[in-house]
Amino acid sequence: MTVKTLALIAHDGKKAEMVAFALKHKTVLERYQLIATSTTGQLLQDKCGLEVTRMLSGPIGGDAQIAAQVAEGKIAAVFFFVDPLGKHPHDPDIQSLLRICNAHDVPLATNPATAMFIISPQAL
Ligand code: PGA
Repeated sequence: MTVKTLALIAHDGKKAEMVAFALKHKTVLERYQLIATSTTGQLLQDKCGLEVTRMLSGPIGGDAQIAAQVAEGKIAAVFFFVDPLGKHPHDPDIQSLLRICNAHDVPLATNPATAMFIISPQAL
């Protein structure tokens, strides 16, 4: 059976919450292949001990790389903790990733509360 791939991305203002989420759900996350934008992936490796394939950093194309993989059907779910209070120079790439997830009906959590329901549906 092929191992499914999950994508993890967190804006700077949400990186601490991503690390907390990953630590809490580490045993589940370890069952998947993980890809992440560069800085988020580095944190997941260093602070959570997870094996992560790192794309480019979000502002220089990492979100676009992940969007392409979603469009190609390679990603089972996206955990993208967005910071609604931040300004992002790569907003077009962010919107594109969100749109591609919706276009392909790929599960997308944009905050930790929703992420919890995806990773642990019995929580409902
Ligand atoms: P980063 O990118 O993980 O490299 O910080 C995330 C983003 O800002 O989209």
